[in-house]
Amino acid sequence: MHGSRIHRSGGGLDRMTRFQPRPRKEYIREQKEKYGRRIFGVFPAQYPKEIFWAMNALPVEIWDPPLEVSQANAHLQPYICSVVRFGLELILQGHCDGMDGFLFPHTCDSIQNLASIVNDYLGLKKPCYFFYHPKAPYRASSRDYYLKQLKDLASGLEKQLGPLNLDELKRRVHQSRGISSLIKEIYDLRAEGKLRSTNEEFYRVLRQGEFLHPDDFLPLLSEFAGTSRGESKKGPVVIMSGVLPSPPEILTLLDELGVRIGDDDLLSCSRRLLAKPGGSEDPFEALADGYFAMPPCSTKNSPVEERLKHLVQKIERSGAKGAIFYTVKFCEPELFDIPQLVEGLKSKGVATLVMDTELNQGVSGQMRTRVEAFVEMIS
Ligand code: SF4
Repeated sequence: MHGSRIHRSGGGLDRMTRFQPRPRKEYIREQKEKYGRRIFGVFPAQYPKEIFWAMNALPVEIWDPPLEVSQANAHLQPYICSVVRFGLELILQGHCDGMDGFLFPHTCDSIQNLASIVNDYLGLKKPCYFFYHPKAPYRASSRDYYLKQLKDLASGLEKQLGPLNLDELKRRVHQSRGISSLIKEIYDLRAEGKLRSTNEEFYRVLRQGEFLHPDDFLPLLSEFAGTSRGESKKGPVVIMSGVLPSPPEILTLLDELGVRIGDDDLLSCSRRLLAKPGGSEDPFEALADGYFAMPPCSTKNSPVEERLKHLVQKIERSGAKGAIFYTVKFCEPELFDIPQLVEGLKSKGVATLVMDTELNQGVSGQMRTRVEAFVEMIS
């Protein structure tokens, strides 16, 4: 079963409508009815999805559901980011009623706060799981700690879902390696100017991994990689840093202005999707290899110097002329690093643009003007 729909027009692929995602609700219903899968709402950002897959469960990530906020504000301080605000709203509006549980990775204080609201105060009577990954600087004990977290999560889920079959976990870890390799290949093609896709299409495809089962996501990625090879459009190249490529209107705006995102440093994308699990026979060890191979990130306490070095590598590799920091308003982990990253990039002659956004609010006229001025400068 495929997660995308390809529309053909006049015998050729219509580039505007290729790889449209299926509606999540419909997809989730099918996953339950056809495969008997349990559904878990997962908050950002990094977690061992392979354990869920191996237990015939589908993790569905909650980043930026398209909603109007009406109830969440009563539970949150005004300075909480909109990822948390919209996630809570999704629950309060009853859109998660059919889910079998939630997972809260320890990404930041705001997600911790949300976990406590959902688990302790809302009275939802749904299992809530927590996943505390180690923060930098990593020591030898960090790996042991991470392995214990993986196993604790698995044994917690076993109480609800039944025993974890280690062979099935190995199979899913192997599949996950395939997915990461393919994503890396697509990123490499893009950085080398050998991918014909628009910015909007690239992230439309990639972000379907937030809810598709790997049996559907892998063929989607293969088809995208196979049909999108070719020379990229000429025009200025930028890299995008931040949490997620949303509001997505920025992508369309950059497409309209002839600007190509050559690489990214987004928490929801390259910071977690490119590191593949290792090849160890022990699936938990393989997952730990993948975790510790992830690039530096504000939510893991990585030193800002490492982040700067990583950004510069991406800029050099993709030939980018500028960096756009597309941040979620009130995202504390990111906001701490940005001033030093901007200063560091400027000192290397890289133009920077910092945009503070609210999810689901599009790109305002004022933001559009700033982007246009930035593009003019780097063109
Ligand atoms: S946007 Fe930032 S503050 Fe909000 S959940 Fe994500 S990492 Fe945490």
